[in-house]
Amino acid sequence: MRKLASVQTVNAAEPIPSADAIEKVRVLGWWVVVKKGEFKPGDKVVYCEIDALLPERAAFEFLRPNCYKPAQTEASGAVTQEAGFRIKTIKLRGQVSQGICFPLSVLPDGAPTDEDADVTDALGVRKWEPPQTVGMGGRVKGSFPGFLSKTDETRVQVLEKVIERHRGRAFYMTEKLDGTSFTAFVREGEFGVCSRNMLLDTTDEASVLIRVAKRLDLEEKLRGFGAARGFEAAIQGEVVGPGVQQNKYALPEVTLRVFNVFDVSTFRFLNHADVLAAIAEMGLDAVPQLGTVVLNHCVDELVALSEGTSVLNPKAQREGIVLRPLIEVEDEYLGRLSFKAINPKFLLKYDE
Ligand code: ATP
Ligand code: MN
Repeated sequence: MRKLASVQTVNAAEPIPSADAIEKVRVLGWWVVVKKGEFKPGDKVVYCEIDALLPERAAFEFLRPNCYKPAQTEASGAVTQEAGFRIKTIKLRGQVSQGICFPLSVLPDGAPTDEDADVTDALGVRKWEPPQTVGMGGRVKGSFPGFLSKTDETRVQVLEKVIERHRGRAFYMTEKLDGTSFTAFVREGEFGVCSRNMLLDTTDEASVLIRVAKRLDLEEKLRGFGAARGFEAAIQGEVVGPGVQQNKYALPEVTLRVFNVFDVSTFRFLNHADVLAAIAEMGLDAVPQLGTVVLNHCVDELVALSEGTSVLNPKAQREGIVLRPLIEVEDEYLGRLSFKAINPKFLLKYDE
């Protein structure tokens, strides 16, 4: 689970060229701009990641001018997100800064102070969610099925040990698209479609995801593929295009870009080569493939690799990259070995 606020140790401090009052410190794999001398290597701090929404309390009031976000409400008036101070990627004197550090004294009495302790709840920190575009998923039929795995990627900045552990392994890179998560499956003969967190009603023609599934004949394709292979399969991908996440790639129509093929019968992800073969066989499109690398990178180098423009539209900054081993691996900390590096330029440009 992502820790939006945790106890960490500052592991380096470095000057920022031509800045006297500020410097950068490193926490986990993140660089954070701070007042010079405020924290030194070895100091324990409370670190809040980007996307943290800090509650309105005295200790955080200094953030009001730059970070205040009013409460979000539904049409009914119900509050869907409390007001607070949003931590995001910023650039100061040319230096990208991600997150914020506080002395441990910001913690309430009794909160844990051991290394890596999750203090998100102790501080009342929540996750910032951008206002939702309505009608994306559509009518819900149930919760996300337990025989599938939800799509999610962990940020490389919190995975220093993991990338160390898998040094020398061959990885493939894909472009991380900024759309909405999509899953389609056949299980025990039943066809189904899911959004990121829900099982959808496949009769709801108003849902972008259901319409994509119909237009691409996914039910037929998954049945055909499953029959040929002798197992039941699911595909997962990103739906992008008009009406989805501001259509950042300016695409003319809504499409699906696949990044997972899953064997539902044995709860296993197919290896990369088999995924590409399956996608081709079903006549679908994969997420943009960016080649392979042997992992020998530090966090900063992977973040540098994430920079670039989108294959879908060279005028758009890409959101980032996703790295996975060519042969699926279970990591002791991460579970499925797969992670993302987000392009800082994308975060700055789209105010995310
Ligand atoms: P966070 O975990 O950082 O709070 P989040 O949970 O909202 O953010 P995202 O940043 O959206 O997650 O990243 C995970 C999502 O990225 C997946 O759910 C998937 O839908 C999407 N995605 C887009 N492109 C790819 C790709 N090439 N490979 C894997 N997933 C991808
Ligand atoms: Mn996530």
